[in-house]
Amino acid sequence: MPRRPDVQRSIPTLRKALAQFRRRGETIALVPTMGALHDGHLALVRLAQKRARRVVVSIFVNPAQFAPIEDFSKYPRTFAQDMAALTAEGVDLVWAPTEKAMYPEGFATRIAPAGPANAGLEDRFRPHFFGGVATVVAKLFLQVAPDVTIFGQKDYQQLKVVTQMVRDLDMPLKVVGAPTIREKDGLAMSSRNAYLSAENRRIAPLLHRVMKDCAGKIKSGEPIARVMTNGSAAITNAGFGLDYFEARNADTLAPVTSVKDGPLRLLVAAKIGQTRLIDNIAV
Ligand code: AMP
Repeated sequence: MPRRPDVQRSIPTLRKALAQFRRRGETIALVPTMGALHDGHLALVRLAQKRARRVVVSIFVNPAQFAPIEDFSKYPRTFAQDMAALTAEGVDLVWAPTEKAMYPEGFATRIAPAGPANAGLEDRFRPHFFGGVATVVAKLFLQVAPDVTIFGQKDYQQLKVVTQMVRDLDMPLKVVGAPTIREKDGLAMSSRNAYLSAENRRIAPLLHRVMKDCAGKIKSGEPIARVMTNGSAAITNAGFGLDYFEARNADTLAPVTSVKDGPLRLLVAAKIGQTRLIDNIAV
């Protein structure tokens, strides 16, 4: 029977628990999450286990990255199920801080990421988002002091923002990006998929199909602008409200006009019903 991970909710007890690992010279990997865990998260955990002796999973629904009109209060919270899944994976420690532990009264500091955080993708539609992410992730890195951290490519711009922050602030850890885990029909796994109605769940995999189709056409030499216009129309015609569907340089996120501007990445964000989905693939 696997052992239930140690759960810590305050910074002093977290530090004590981590000190035991450090004393033995054990390396630590951190997998930051907002809970409502699915196989995508668990794939990050497995990668973390390959990269370090001890794995810490943080579970914190971060109010600072939600705008007032967004889904903070109804974001799925499934702690008991999450613990069962993390126990089965053999995770060592779950860092599940209270909101007070993370943002004590009088909290007044915020990281302001630029560069990839201003690429004109998620930031155009969620202007508070990357500031909130960078701030909480910086705190998690200082709290846990991991040797390595694993982030999903599913949130591609976020992975770039975190990588840039670690480089710019000389944070002594390595950021590893992990491939996107999908349902059998291609839909990228996401905690927010739980919001989808049966009808919208049926439509949702179209996003991945269109991206794949467009990536194939770009690779075979069709002009990027035309491919993306037609792809956008296909997404809209299926009933999505499209925020963006863009081809960008995979490293810098700069806009591209030809495959010579590559390596390329296609990135999409679209709403189906009330649910906003994001996804991306390599060309
Ligand atoms: P979240 O709990 O949604 O904030 O995600 C926590 C971490 O899991 C982030 O690094 C995400 O990029 C990653 N993640 C979410 N969904 C997937 C997925 N389908 N495949 C791989 N990683 C994912």
